[in-house]
Amino acid sequence: MHCPFCRHPDSRVIDSRTADDGMSIRRRRQCPECGKRFTTTETASLTVIKRSGVVEPFSREKVMVGVRKACQGRPVTEADLALLAQRVEESLRLTGVAQFDTNDIGVAILPHLRDLDEVAYLRFASVYQSFDSLDDFEAAVRELRDARAASGGAAAGRAETDTANEK
Ligand SMILES: [Zn+2]
Repeated sequence: MHCPFCRHPDSRVIDSRTADDGMSIRRRRQCPECGKRFTTTETASLTVIKRSGVVEPFSREKVMVGVRKACQGRPVTEADLALLAQRVEESLRLTGVAQFDTNDIGVAILPHLRDLDEVAYLRFASVYQSFDSLDDFEAAVRELRDARAASGGAAAGRAETDTANEK
């Protein structure tokens, strides 16, 4: 690759090591022209097969675009979306697989979105899992409640009762 300092078209690898998580390789390089050193990181490129059959590189930006729509009007910041996209990429990398289909990406997004915002999660799940009846929504909401109850969040149920008692 080009030297980032003088644009010399070549560089020499002087050290190479695998990152602790085994997911990337860092190479220390030196430019034979100006002598400056720089580091490159090499990771397996993740690709996505779209429903149309087109293969394209995985993009955090595309994850953010998809999730951003579901988050309209919700208290979710761009930083939250960026972090979510990063977590999605990390969870995909952890599978050790390099190619995914659109469905896999949706599956990888769901648990992270659920942690971020339950309403956005329901919106996203309804499109992605093509909910076509109220039953599908009810089942998803029930799952959310169960998950919340399992994590000790009894407060949600109580809040609902309070609201119901208000006239
Ligand atoms: Zn150089």
